This record gives sequence, structure tokens and C-alpha cells, in this order.
Amino acid sequence: MQVPVIFYHKIDRPAPDSLVRGGFTPPARFARQMAYLKKHGYVFYTASELIDHYRAHGEFPPNGIAITLDDGWEDNYTNAFPVLKRFGIKATIFTIPSCIGQTAYKAQAAGEGARPHLTREEILEMSAHGIEFGSHTLNHKLLHEISADEVREEVFESKRQLEELLQKPCKVLAYPAGFFSDTAREACREAGHIAAFTTHYGPADPLDLYALNRTEILRRDRFLFQFARKVKPFLAA
Ligand SMILES: [Zn+2]
Repeated sequence: MQVPVIFYHKIDRPAPDSLVRGGFTPPARFARQMAYLKKHGYVFYTASELIDHYRAHGEFPPNGIAITLDDGWEDNYTNAFPVLKRFGIKATIFTIPSCIGQTAYKAQAAGEGARPHLTREEILEMSAHGIEFGSHTLNHKLLHEISADEVREEVFESKRQLEELLQKPCKVLAYPAGFFSDTAREACREAGHIAAFTTHYGPADPLDLYALNRTEILRRDRFLFQFARKVKPFLAA
């Protein structure tokens, strides 16, 4: 089964100094992609709504899709949010609590300058408009490389801080760079997340709710037909 969740990082043009450009989707292209989904009858869910539906029915809703964005960059507010609002599209942003309001390197790609993250005010405004905030761990450490105690701190404390800010349950998590371990899976479950996402691509059977695959939309998906090919499996025949 393929999980109908797509993910982005930055909705922006690449900075001139960035060596790794795959994580950038220019705003106009993002708008065309959202318009495509809207026009072709996709139904939008937050990541946790989609998982709740799967848990209740054993399958994903017909034509359902969840848009997710990793790292909580400020461009998600300046460039993605206006498009999502215009089309009435829900999304889930996986946020790093220690980076909120900071211009930080923690989630940065190699060779790239620091970049601003979402502020508390921006997060609260988006949350009031139906954008879900999930955890991307406290410090964006790679969970398979740190001790079990650190893993638990990264998972539990991130959830706690997001819930304190949003006054809403933080139900889902995305592993930094997609890396996880048995300890990380267990910590997510114990902390009370209903699901955790990797960056793995492609179908899995049976689905492991704490190692869910997602489909990445990359800068090289420049033409709409490339995007269309990636989201086609989520459309009911
Ligand atoms: Zn990340």
C-alpha cells in the first residue's frame, strides 16, 4: 500500500549559495501543483486525519491526499500558506520546536547559509486556519545516531513544547532526514503519536504506522506531468 502523503521542504527559489537544491520548490510551481490537485478531485486531509481514517477503516479515503512540509521554514508561511488558503487546502507542517523564531542551521543542507524558521505568531495564525503542526523532533538530530535517552528527549520534549504552544494534541511526527530505529519507533508510540513518517518512497505491505512512506516532491519535478505521475496512485480508478 502506498501512503497518500506528499512532502516538500522549502517553498522558495534556491538561495544562490545552496549546493543542494532538491528541497526547493518555487512558489509559482507549488501553486500550479496545488491547482492541479484541486482540479483533479483530490480530497485534502491533514496527516493525522488521514491516519485516523486509515485506523478506523483499514484503508485510505478515496482520492485522499495529505500535503506535508518538513522543517518549518518561514517560507511555508510567506509562500505556501497564501496558496493553501486560496485553494482551501489543509496541510501538515513538521516543526522543530528549538528552531521556532530562529534563523538556524540545524536542518540545513550542506553548504547552505542559515535560514529563518516560522515564528510562534506565524505558527499560531496558520494553526487557526487549519494547518496542522506535527513534530520533527526537538533538535533535528538523526535518531539512529544518538542514545536511547536522547531519542526519548527529542521525541517527548518536542511533542510537549508543540502542545504547549498550540494547545492542541501533536499527533504525528516525521523523522529527521527519515532516519529511525526501533528505539525511535517505540518512543513515538509511547509518547502518544498515532503515526510517524519516514522519507522512504514506495509501497509497503503491511503498513507500519511508525515507519510510513511518503512521496517527495522535488525541484526536478519541474513539469506538471512529472508531479501528476507522482500523485496519480492516490486517485481512485
Ligand atoms: Zn528535516
